[in-house]
Amino acid sequence: MTAQLIDGKVIAEAVRREAAAESARLKTLTGQVPTLAAVLVGDDPASQSYVTSKGRACEEAGMGSRTIRLPASATQAEVEDLVRQLNADPAVNGILVQLPLPKGLNEQSVLNLISLEKDVDGFHPMNIGQLVMKGRTPQFIPCTPNGCIEMLKRSGIPIAGADAVVVGRSNIVGIPVAALLNNADATVTICHSKTKNLPDVVRRADIVVAAIGRPEFVRGDWIKPGAAVIDVGINRIPDATKKSGSRLVGDVNFAEAVEVAGYITPVPGGVGLMTVAMLLTNTVRAFKLQHGIV
Ligand code: NAP
Repeated sequence: MTAQLIDGKVIAEAVRREAAAESARLKTLTGQVPTLAAVLVGDDPASQSYVTSKGRACEEAGMGSRTIRLPASATQAEVEDLVRQLNADPAVNGILVQLPLPKGLNEQSVLNLISLEKDVDGFHPMNIGQLVMKGRTPQFIPCTPNGCIEMLKRSGIPIAGADAVVVGRSNIVGIPVAALLNNADATVTICHSKTKNLPDVVRRADIVVAAIGRPEFVRGDWIKPGAAVIDVGINRIPDATKKSGSRLVGDVNFAEAVEVAGYITPVPGGVGLMTVAMLLTNTVRAFKLQHGIV
């Protein structure tokens, strides 16, 4: 059996087109466009490239984008003052503080400050709290986890009643994706570094989400035949055949898993592309919340 590919490029493009169309409609209605402000502290190359691609995606969707850069030497008070200014600025609808912040800065205090109505990353404890509580609706859902669910839904993969196994329990991926699967009525198991008999647990899953940060860790013989595999991992490994000397792989051994799974996301070209797309959706939602548009 060869799995059907869940193509992040196609799905992310569709989500981005929808956000662009909604942004154009909102411009006609209000004369303004949904606008994202990204705060970049320090000069981490990966963070710089993420922020650049988020800004570019906003512009391509006809939305507004601002990047505010602070040096790595910025103090906690300077970063927090900036967030307060952006909270108060009516021309800014969504605020994203690119993580990780440089050492010495308290990430939690900064994230707690972001106005709930502008928390387009969905990492405010209030938003996460509402995500995991039964019957509550968060203002925003974190982008990568929401992207995983969007890929399942748009591929017609049933979630209700499915056995789902999430490997990884980080605040930014594992925990919110498990909450979303639970909210969609899957029976969810969360695994981590202390889980016993991990391959056996994964073998029970109709849906596997891997968010571990270890290259090709989940093997093909861990996958139940026909299961849907969502690979969140982005790992760079050495590859002498590439000009750059390296290539990206996921947390799942794709070559093995593709022979067993029913559906699988590739890396690159899978979940990674969904994060920015869902950020656009959240920024449009923020604009609508702030303008009282349903
Ligand atoms: P993280 O914070 O390092 O969390 C990794 C999780 O994996 C932890 O819960 C850890 O367990 C678990 N783990 C580690 N080794 C394990 C093992 N041997 N067996 C079982 N579980 C194990 O990582 P993250 O931030 O969630 O990111 C995970 C991956 O997703 C990374 O490759 C990252 O680059 C990628 N990512 C992609 C996107 C995107 O596509 N846009 C966004 C975010 C992250 P413990 O809790 O017990 O330590």
